[in-house]
Amino acid sequence: MQTPRNVSTLLLSETRHRIAWYILIVLLATVTEMVHSQTPPLLFGLPIEGTIGTDVFIINHVDHDQRDSAVLDVMCSWQTYDGHRGTDFALRSFRSMDSGVHVLAAARGKVVAIVDTLPDRNKAVDRSLGFGNYIAIEHPEGYVTYYAHNRRGSALVSLNSIVNKGQRIALVGSSGTSEDPHLHFEVWRVVDPFAGSCSPDANHWVTPPQYQTDYRLIDCDVTTWPPSLDTLRERPPTATSVTVADTVITFWALQQMVQTSDRLGVRWRTPTNETWFSFEMDAGRTSTYYYWWSWIRRPQEAGDWTVEYLRNGEVVASRAFNVLPTSGVANKGDATAIRMTVFGDVLRCEVDRTCQIRTFDTAGNLLNIHTLDAGIHAVMLPANAAVAIEVVAGNVVLARTVAITQALGR
Ligand SMILES: [Zn+2]
Repeated sequence: MQTPRNVSTLLLSETRHRIAWYILIVLLATVTEMVHSQTPPLLFGLPIEGTIGTDVFIINHVDHDQRDSAVLDVMCSWQTYDGHRGTDFALRSFRSMDSGVHVLAAARGKVVAIVDTLPDRNKAVDRSLGFGNYIAIEHPEGYVTYYAHNRRGSALVSLNSIVNKGQRIALVGSSGTSEDPHLHFEVWRVVDPFAGSCSPDANHWVTPPQYQTDYRLIDCDVTTWPPSLDTLRERPPTATSVTVADTVITFWALQQMVQTSDRLGVRWRTPTNETWFSFEMDAGRTSTYYYWWSWIRRPQEAGDWTVEYLRNGEVVASRAFNVLPTSGVANKGDATAIRMTVFGDVLRCEVDRTCQIRTFDTAGNLLNIHTLDAGIHAVMLPANAAVAIEVVAGNVVLARTVAITQALGR
């Protein structure tokens, strides 16, 4: 069993933004209240393409608590943030965004505002950026709906045009105050499209999307890319085969409804199904959109490995990956009596004649030459490196192999 050298972890991410035009809100609220008293509530269709919980995830509701530093969503819970006036529909990733997910008009109305020229790949919160690209639609009943953070140049409607419920009006993006691709859908009056004991308004959905209460794993995978939050948001390639050139293996997960006390962890299993390394930690916070990852150095043992993701002691997902062999000897010529085994950073070498052992780094630079007589030898290699090893007699390469070396703590 080997000891992993490095495990890092963690978390992150929530999408946030805020509105700036309080005066306009007040003016509109006054007008719409008057109209509202004479008309039934407007029913909205979903403002985004896709299936909730599969393609699209509701990660923030409206904050009904007027106080600073206190939140209350439609279900008297915390799936919102202070001052949030809309509903956030998040995509899985920027890769999903690139596939082109449409924003839909939630009800029939007239387009009264379009902003369509701002950068749309923001990954950090800058509260000065507001809605970014957005479209506003005024409805006959006096409501105005806002569709914010759209992709640049994606507006499919023109100012003062009439749109129907369900009509495509733009593409989901990450413009304005946004760090993940999502639609911020906001209804001015202000109302929460969800009905619940903490929302005084009627339900506004034709079919209410489910209010998420249980933990949900949105996505997870294993990759040979080094861990970084921005990389994960874009989705790195799946690690199917792990080669000598790969230095780390990262397991990552994106999940909804994480609780402060949730224990999250990984268990890495060898080809013989032994636990090679495991790691666990408390989430330490609540989150509706939570990235988590853990990585190990590439193990030396070749074969089919498994990594299991655990929440509160239960396996919620597992992924397999194949580690390709790196220390088997590729015999050449008549060198049938040459055997090499790398253990940690020691090369055990059995040779049947006087020869040289040469080691190179992965860029091909010569690191060392050891001249050996026939017999069994132990040769020190650089620790924690990817090296190529050659056995040479005269100018003939008798054997060649590559290996990842590890310091084993002598
Ligand atoms: Zn929002």
